[in-house]
Amino acid sequence: MVNHMRHTSGHRDQRRANQTLEAVNLSKCGHCGEQKLPHKICANCGYYNGRQVVDVLKKLDKKERKKKEKELAEKEGAKT
Ligand SMILES: [Zn+2]
Repeated sequence: MVNHMRHTSGHRDQRRANQTLEAVNLSKCGHCGEQKLPHKICANCGYYNGRQVVDVLKKLDKKERKKKEKELAEKEGAKT
């Protein structure tokens, strides 16, 4: 059996019309306000559901840690 249905440009284009990528859905971190993926720990401050789950300072070296600590403290201060 030979499939002899002609593949027209319209058929091709209709098929490809469904191959688009959707924009990633982002939500805001309740702790630092940074954009994050929903139902995921915030990559910026390590918080999820109002508590710190991951220590984001642990993997940083001394210089970067200082910078990050300052950054987080500033955000904390701006909120209260
Ligand atoms: Zn955060």
